[in-house]
Amino acid sequence: MKAKLQALKTRLLEIDDLNAAASLLQWDQATYMPPGGAVARGRQQSTLSRLAHEKLTDPAIGGLLDDLQAYEESLPYDSPEASLIRVTRRKYERAAQVPPSFMAELNEHAAVTYQAWTRARPADDFAAVQPLLEKTLVLSRRLAGFFPGYEHIADPLIDYADYGMTVSMLRALFADLREQLVPIVQAVTAQPPTDDSCLRQHFAAPQQIAFGLDVIQRLGYDLDRGRQDQSPHPFSTHFSLGDVRITTRVNEGYLGSALFGTMHEAGHAMYDQGICPDFEGTPLADGPSAGVHESQSRLWENLVGRSRGFWRFFYPRLQAAFPEQLSGVSEDAFYAAINQVERSLIRVAADELTYNLHVMIRFDLELALLEGNLAVRDLPGVWRERYLADLGIAPPNDRDGVMQDMHWYSWVIGGMFQGYTLGNVMGAQFFDAALRAHPEIPAEMEQGEFGTLHRWLKDHIYQHGAKYTATELVERITGQSLSVEPYIRYLKEKYSALYGVTSSPP
Ligand code: ZN
Repeated sequence: MKAKLQALKTRLLEIDDLNAAASLLQWDQATYMPPGGAVARGRQQSTLSRLAHEKLTDPAIGGLLDDLQAYEESLPYDSPEASLIRVTRRKYERAAQVPPSFMAELNEHAAVTYQAWTRARPADDFAAVQPLLEKTLVLSRRLAGFFPGYEHIADPLIDYADYGMTVSMLRALFADLREQLVPIVQAVTAQPPTDDSCLRQHFAAPQQIAFGLDVIQRLGYDLDRGRQDQSPHPFSTHFSLGDVRITTRVNEGYLGSALFGTMHEAGHAMYDQGICPDFEGTPLADGPSAGVHESQSRLWENLVGRSRGFWRFFYPRLQAAFPEQLSGVSEDAFYAAINQVERSLIRVAADELTYNLHVMIRFDLELALLEGNLAVRDLPGVWRERYLADLGIAPPNDRDGVMQDMHWYSWVIGGMFQGYTLGNVMGAQFFDAALRAHPEIPAEMEQGEFGTLHRWLKDHIYQHGAKYTATELVERITGQSLSVEPYIRYLKEKYSALYGVTSSPP
């Protein structure tokens, strides 16, 4: 059995090497590649992805997994070997169930649609992408159809990113969140808006980058196993557990962009840097789901990075880095500015409090599309109606409405948005558990010390990689199932203090 397991690992390592090479090409494309490289780069990436997919769906892998099944069952569920076999089988079966000809058709359509969207969005021309999106919907439904036995047609699509989550679970969770969130949003947005002009001055890029790097190193991002570069859309990526990189985007006219974006991506990267080194080169060397990974970026960005205690330590340092801009701005005023709440149109720029309303709109609309209860041609109008109903404002155009996110225009419709809100909910649940285990964490943060929190996260989340599913991880750590309670409690405490409102439902 040891020999068969070794044979499986050898094959997985080759697949991982191909995927890592593709990721490096992608990183280079987003950072330093001259525009002239685009055509060849697209071909190179698709060659590597195809080779990796062929190797993953090789029947020899299926044979090894069959041979190893009895061995797996003889081992403890969470032993590294049983976990490796189990997680590999899940990936193998998912990849092998979809015919390569369909995947090729979907990939090609997605590339064409994405190109069309990059032109249609600035031109505010939804009509140009509507027929493409109609085909995307057909293909999305066909993709789900390769996984029979689902309860809701979106369930197999959600499985790709957030394995184990279903529409019925998410609908219940989101309804619960929404019911408690809306009264807080209404109470806060009824108050006079916070002034965030202190963030909207000129802040030179080199100082912004230096400050951000200092912050994330103190949080625990290891630059011996990582680096930061600039790209138009910030992201994190890894080529091995010893090389986990992030990018940031600097806006010299707005301090918040690089500052919080850097902490967000460092949250993703510290996760990957903390995975058990023995998992290198296997499917275990990743988080278990988009939601769990996002829980860590949001924990560091929001629960830590937008907290009062954090700035008690860092604000004097930020003032020293930007004396002209900030010496006359009090810590209170700065803290209020970075936590400004407003009814807004753009998801990625939304504040912590209204953010999830943006996600839920998208989630509901993609379910309605997949169910056949909403036609693509009616999408822009329904989008405006929902924004008016939920956020009290409607986009004046489709550019800042239904065309603002790339998701539906770059892959399938369905399974793409729930992870963001799951990340917020799980992040608060994990943070709450960390604070119960270590009540000294807030006082340490005020001193610029993050070691206790980082170690706790590494011990309970990072090191396990993809060994446990999101649901298992939540239950192991908190002793409870996924719940919005810690998140709502956190939002109520924070925003009632900031805006002087009581947030009990009307
Ligand atoms: Zn993220």
